[in-house]
Amino acid sequence: MPTDYALYLRKSRADLEAEAHGEGDTLARHEHILMELAKSRALPIGAIYREIVSGERIANRPVMQQLLSEVEDGRWKGVLVTETSRLARGDTIDQGIVAQAFKFSGTLIVTPAKTYDPTQEADEEWMEFGLFMSRQEYRMIRRRMNAGTKSAKKEGRYVGSRAPYGYERCKLHGRGWSIRPIEPESVVVKMIYELFLSGKGAGEIATYLNQINIPSPTQRTWVRQTVGLILQNPHYAGLIPDAVHPYKKVIKDGQLTVKRPLNKQCELYEGVHEAIIPRETWEETQRLLTKNHKPRVPSALQQHNPLAGLLYCDKCGQKMQRHPQTDRNFEKYYCPTVGCPTVSAPLSQVEALVLQGLKEFLYNLEMQQPEQPDFTTEQNALKNIDSRLVEQRKRLTKTFELVEDGIYTREAFLQRQSEINAEISRLQTAREELQRKLDAHAAELSARENAAPQIQHVLDVYDRKSAPAERSALLKQVIDRIDYHKTTKQRWSAENDLSVTIHPKISARK
Ligand SMILES: [Zn+2]
Repeated sequence: MPTDYALYLRKSRADLEAEAHGEGDTLARHEHILMELAKSRALPIGAIYREIVSGERIANRPVMQQLLSEVEDGRWKGVLVTETSRLARGDTIDQGIVAQAFKFSGTLIVTPAKTYDPTQEADEEWMEFGLFMSRQEYRMIRRRMNAGTKSAKKEGRYVGSRAPYGYERCKLHGRGWSIRPIEPESVVVKMIYELFLSGKGAGEIATYLNQINIPSPTQRTWVRQTVGLILQNPHYAGLIPDAVHPYKKVIKDGQLTVKRPLNKQCELYEGVHEAIIPRETWEETQRLLTKNHKPRVPSALQQHNPLAGLLYCDKCGQKMQRHPQTDRNFEKYYCPTVGCPTVSAPLSQVEALVLQGLKEFLYNLEMQQPEQPDFTTEQNALKNIDSRLVEQRKRLTKTFELVEDGIYTREAFLQRQSEINAEISRLQTAREELQRKLDAHAAELSARENAAPQIQHVLDVYDRKSAPAERSALLKQVIDRIDYHKTTKQRWSAENDLSVTIHPKISARK
């Protein structure tokens, strides 16, 4: 992540005329304003770009072209300008290019009046930045941007500034952005689809997620609508929708308002990102959603396996399979690897053993007292780094004064700024590493403390008569993996060596 900022200075036609009438040098004056701004907010400066030629079009401004390509590459945290119109003016195509470059790279535009954050601004607010466009120009840019967005989508890139729940944005090697799954949110997405296909409605799923204390995408409680939107979102199937929310002008009570209705019949492109939900499962979900009643799930898609995704053969590492039987009481787990010495066992026996193992683990957890290791060395190191950071920030401020007083040349100033900024980055990295270590430790402690009540809760609400998808969702709350062991064939003899090894989740919950 870049930490420093660039200054961009350019004369407008009006400035040239003012200078001809005896006004002082515009660029020097603007540089002073922006340096003051940087100093007051302690923004490290990595470069000062001065456009010598006075072309209005980007094509005629070589320095702007250089800056734009750096912005597209994500080189800068932000760009300081006196007004947004210094970046692009007059030409709608240019404005569109500038807006896209800043928006897709998430680069800030810092002016004395306002800081524009393209990852936070609503689309319109971002587009009307500076209010230097007429309505006509705005419409043209909108059309052009839509065309650019459409071609990016056709190539499977992700153009939103915020990733859907379960994903994070990531930069592609070539141009543009994509998304990749993150945990634990992507696991929650899978759980939602599984629960839906097991016959639960969106409202019931929301209630269930609140019961097991899973934070919602908004950090508030889950509601039916949020679950519904997740179930409809094509990104989870590895697809990129063309305009899910196209703008629609609506005249209501004599007033024109713009709405974004959900467009369900929109085109879908093949995304470059990883799917969280298999395509056929997602399509089946859509089919069921369009019906008004609760889904009757076809047997082939229904989750029948309470240990789905958890149970592995301890001999060969394969996922254990469920052998379906017309009579549920005779269902078995078996290892699908040909020649593997692992022997099958009844599903109900394995499930009982897992619950037993979980109870034993809980008992041991409650019996043992975790040791409290000494972290004073790390804490002292942290304090030391903090005081050095304060020192470096003071030095950064000082360089602004030195260049102002003419003691530093502009080159010397940039040199000092980049040295100090590098040192600050180095200290911050060291600080983050230390903090991570301390956090990880704190998280482990609290996870241990939380693990017991969580496991207790799972054991309390676990109902062996409830839907298998519900049971597996519950177990996945507290278990990472279960290793299955059985090599004896005599089902009725005393030699039955069926056993399971449970790997519980002792990880911090967000
Ligand atoms: Zn095996």
